[in-house]
Amino acid sequence: MDNNLNAIVTNVMQVSPSMKIFRITPDGWDLPDFVSGQFAALALPATAERVAEATPDYEEYEDGKMIKRVYSIASSSKSKQYIEFYISLVRSGALTPRLFNLQTGDKIELGKKMVGMFTLDQVPEDNNVVLIATGTGVAPYVSMLRSNIMSNNSRKIAVIHGAASSWDLGYSSELQLLESISDRFKYIPTILEPDKEATTWMGDTRFVQDMWAAGVIEEAFDGKPTPDNTHIFLCGNPKMVESMFVHLEADGFTEHKRKSPGQIHIESWG
Ligand SMILES: Cc1cc2nc3c(=O)[nH]c(=O)nc-3n(C[C@H](O)[C@H](O)[C@H](O)COP(=O)(O)OP(=O)(O)OC[C@H]3O[C@@H](n4cnc5c(N)ncnc54)[C@H](O)[C@@H]3O)c2cc1C
Repeated sequence: MDNNLNAIVTNVMQVSPSMKIFRITPDGWDLPDFVSGQFAALALPATAERVAEATPDYEEYEDGKMIKRVYSIASSSKSKQYIEFYISLVRSGALTPRLFNLQTGDKIELGKKMVGMFTLDQVPEDNNVVLIATGTGVAPYVSMLRSNIMSNNSRKIAVIHGAASSWDLGYSSELQLLESISDRFKYIPTILEPDKEATTWMGDTRFVQDMWAAGVIEEAFDGKPTPDNTHIFLCGNPKMVESMFVHLEADGFTEHKRKSPGQIHIESWG
């Protein structure tokens, strides 16, 4: 059964009680090229143990069954040493309780094909970019920022990242650092449960759609974002994606599709 396990977990970083960053390295093969924003499949045998805090499996698995799910890549497209994923534990889920039991050195199956259209490929060079995420939805943006997004020297970029608590804002140090070294990049975190913080949270506490409506991007970019000058990326919670979409449509933005180019790019994990 272990024959499918073609990669090795080379680092596991606990971000919060229910979020981890995994680095995975192919075992004897080369990582294929990918474009930042794409995703890959991870799989484990159903016989792999579930983490203690998980609830029991919701179905029974036949012998030899592999459980597979897809995850957005968080590492740079230039990294050939490892591929990185930012994953949230779903206690009642099938794969994540097994993933959360993995230790450095354990084996896993990594799909050899990285796919997806949620990339910057179709964004005009002179357009600004707003990257909006909830939870682990920030992963594809981290890959974009770590790869080549900042090499365009006129584009302004903002990340709005919503989470329940400050400890759920994975990659915040890296994004803060980027903001401090580039006047074209703005990092705008927001948390919804400030009462649970150990110390007073000094950042935003609004829903991302309310922040958009209140003009946080206009302020960050020092100019109104319009369909002519800005592309918007939405990733994560389907409710956030839906609410943002309503606001963006009212402001004249349309969804980007292969046959009808627009400015709203969506990766919804519902
Ligand atoms: C393009 C894409 C990119 C993604 N990227 C990421 C990422 O970067 N990070 C990340 O954390 N997630 C990401 N996801 C989500 C990820 O693919 C999984 O859906 C997620 O990790 C949950 O997997 P799971 O196997 O643990 O849960 P699942 O087994 O898929 O279950 C999810 C929920 O549905 C319920 N459920 C499902 N089937 C049944 C059933 N038959 N009976 C009862 N209940 C059921 C479960 O109890 C659970 O609450 C991405 C999804 C997509 C589509």
